[in-house]
Amino acid sequence: MDIKKSVTIDDLMQKIADTGREYDTEKIRRAFELADKAHDGQLRSSGEKYITHPLSVAMILLDYLMDTDTICAALMHDVVEDTDVALEEIKKKFGSDVALMVDGVTKIGQVPLNTKEEQQAENIRKILIAMSKDIRVIIIKLADRLHNMRTLYARPPEKQLKTSLETMNFYAPIAHRLGMSDIKEEMESIAIHYLDPYGCKEIERLLDLHKDERDSFIDKIITRIRSRISDIDPPPIIEGRVKSIFSIYKKMYVKNKPFDEIYDIYAVRIIVQSVVECYNVLGVIHDLFSPMPYRFKDYIATPKPNRYQSLHTTVIGKEGIPFEVQIRTVEMHNTAQYGIAAHWKYKAGLKGSVDGEKRFDWIRQLLERQQEADDVEQIADAIKNDLTQDEVFVFSPKGDVFALPLGANVLDFAYTIHTEVGNKMTGAKVGGRMVPFDYQVKTGDIVEIFTSGSPSYGPNRNWLNIAQTTEAKSKIRSWFKKERREENIACGKEELEREFKRNGIPVENDILEEAAMKAHLNSVDDLYAAIGYGGVSMSKVIQRIKDSVIRAQKEHNAAVMTAEENMEQTNSRSRKKGIIIEGIDNCQIKFAQCCNPLPGDPIIGFVTRGFGVSIHKQDCVNVINNMDSEENRDRWLKASWAGVDDSTYRATIDIISEQRSSVIADITAAIAANRIPMHEMNMHRLKNGNTNLLITIEVAGVEQLANVISRLQKIPGVISADRTGKA
Ligand code: MN
Repeated sequence: MDIKKSVTIDDLMQKIADTGREYDTEKIRRAFELADKAHDGQLRSSGEKYITHPLSVAMILLDYLMDTDTICAALMHDVVEDTDVALEEIKKKFGSDVALMVDGVTKIGQVPLNTKEEQQAENIRKILIAMSKDIRVIIIKLADRLHNMRTLYARPPEKQLKTSLETMNFYAPIAHRLGMSDIKEEMESIAIHYLDPYGCKEIERLLDLHKDERDSFIDKIITRIRSRISDIDPPPIIEGRVKSIFSIYKKMYVKNKPFDEIYDIYAVRIIVQSVVECYNVLGVIHDLFSPMPYRFKDYIATPKPNRYQSLHTTVIGKEGIPFEVQIRTVEMHNTAQYGIAAHWKYKAGLKGSVDGEKRFDWIRQLLERQQEADDVEQIADAIKNDLTQDEVFVFSPKGDVFALPLGANVLDFAYTIHTEVGNKMTGAKVGGRMVPFDYQVKTGDIVEIFTSGSPSYGPNRNWLNIAQTTEAKSKIRSWFKKERREENIACGKEELEREFKRNGIPVENDILEEAAMKAHLNSVDDLYAAIGYGGVSMSKVIQRIKDSVIRAQKEHNAAVMTAEENMEQTNSRSRKKGIIIEGIDNCQIKFAQCCNPLPGDPIIGFVTRGFGVSIHKQDCVNVINNMDSEENRDRWLKASWAGVDDSTYRATIDIISEQRSSVIADITAAIAANRIPMHEMNMHRLKNGNTNLLITIEVAGVEQLANVISRLQKIPGVISADRTGKA
């Protein structure tokens, strides 16, 4: 760390002038003079005059264009604690805003920071609550801590360790939660140097090893990207960098990954003007480089809890070196860098209170609850007892904040953390006590979820009644849908037969098939399964089928479509290549549209009248129903795929999703992330409010298709995704 020339009031005044904004320089100068006098004779460990510290803190805050009062409070932030100046005096001379901030910063400094994990959430909560009086308090405190970290080299080793640990455990997470990533990264990278100097040296050595190659690699990528998006106006900002040492550190030493396997050592950031441009640029990136599977994240559609928004994807170029690309708009970028402080930087004239914007809702809520109470504990209790809001804020044992709708319980919370945490939940503790699954969480609760390590453990059907949030319910349903198909079929069959009987509907194959079709499902088993996991409501099935049962009984015989007609609707695309038909060498081949076979599917051929051989999947309904009929028996031929070929095939996926544009964005993004060409997309709204999407894509075979489908099924909000024509 380089030791800079001691900062003076003249430097501060110059920096204020450089901002070009209006500041009350007279007031700032008075604050400086009071602090300078109060700290007179005190020295920092570095040997510098103490006043250089508050001056430096004020300088950091000017980077964020914090207002006059914040700068005044920063200059005087240590006088009440370390000198004889009383808060009353500050209040009289600078007003109550400044006095409250000085008091707040002093109080935060007094919250005992116990580094035991179970205490961590409690401590962070206290700090957040203390700051809730005025968010500027925590911003000053973070700047204070940042400067102390920058000058930590002058402190004794014992102090270096303690301060670094505290910073790592509390201040960096708070900066993260407030979205102030610049401060967070700098704090972490300084702290880790003290906590593990050898580990850091090793990373620096590894990074240094190929520094020249690395620099030219980043330059090359940027040039390639720039040339492809040069038509965007104004031109996007493209930056390349090596990611922070601490992020590499975490992957190497916490996740135990070898240096060579860390994907995101390099990162390229592309900053554009609009959300549409973000997705367009993503398409270009995936076209230029190969995306790595499962590395695409859409934080635009689903922002992080601290409001961070961006598209992330990891791609690999012809050099074989993976790198991460982040794509975001200018506004998202400002929020990412400055977090909550972006309010001051980009919205001149704002006071300390946070305005009505949604960006930092949970902080605003904490602010609104702030009572007259002076004491941190009293505020905490006031918040705990007040449940009139429609959202609650719950903490994980590590201090992460999660927002849940009022009335949500610990099961909902588990699913909010992660689908797998929800699926594996065995119990929960709130404030250290075991609670039932339906325990309603309150703001300020610290909730610990216990999970099972057993691979066979999963949700209980009763959880569907316990869960309150749509998110949790749909995740439970999709688990049952995927993991318990047999069970769902049995369960759904029983339920449906019972209801049919009750409504006087005969349990016959035709009727069941029609019911399945009306529910947009491909088979009766799918219908049973859907009823079993709760994806289709029984009353709707009955309602839909009742009228037509009456009609169907009249036209019973006429209604049966001949299998042959059905089979002659063959696919217009010729895909003869790659099919072997036993006993026939050179014949016309068509793919049956009823089941649209793909390479890898077990298939069978059917000799049509005049259209050659049509290829069906062996499990196609039309095959099963006509296999043994007298007139067709001899027309079936053994067929198989002729080895692997590299041609691609079109397949249509039928998706039912919740009606939210973000779900659609996720779906198209998931397909784009797999670099799968999309040919057609049809979308319509279902009566129940859900959306039905039919997406035609080009795939290499069943395996790839199954992959895409399973990824689509995992998207929150997707109720079902299946291949059409599946028997
Ligand atoms: Mn200080």
